[in-house]
Amino acid sequence: MSTSAFVRRAYRVPAARGMQITYSGDGLPARTATITGFRGGGLLVRHEGARRPVYAHPTYAITYPPVPNPVGRGWCDGCPAEVGLHADGTVRVHRAFGEECVGVGKRPYALVTWRHNDPVPAAAMAE
Ligand SMILES: [Zn+2]
Repeated sequence: MSTSAFVRRAYRVPAARGMQITYSGDGLPARTATITGFRGGGLLVRHEGARRPVYAHPTYAITYPPVPNPVGRGWCDGCPAEVGLHADGTVRVHRAFGEECVGVGKRPYALVTWRHNDPVPAAAMAE
C-alpha cells in the first residue's frame, strides 16, 4: 500500500498528488494549496506563493474539492488495498503478499467513499 492509499483509507479523504485544496488552519484567511506528496501518514502541501511544501494533517482544516464517489471500489478485508468490486459487491481477483489475496470473493471491509470520514460498513451495502 502506498502512503497515499494509506491516507485515503485511514482518513477517508480523496487526497491525491496535484490536487488543489483549501487550507484554513493557521489563523490566516483560507487559501489555496496543492498536495505535492505524502509523508508520515499525512500530506505535504505547498501553499500558494510558497516555495516549499509543509506537512498537513489530512483532516485538519482542509477542504477537498468535490470528488464523485467512486463506483465499484472497496477496501479489501484481506489486505490493505483499494480494489475493484464485482456487480454483486464482492472483491475482484487481485494479489497480495505474493499470492491471491484471501479477501477475493468476499465483501470489502468498507466501500471506498470520499468527502466524509465515516466508513460505510460492508454490511450496509445493498445485497
Ligand atoms: Zn486483498
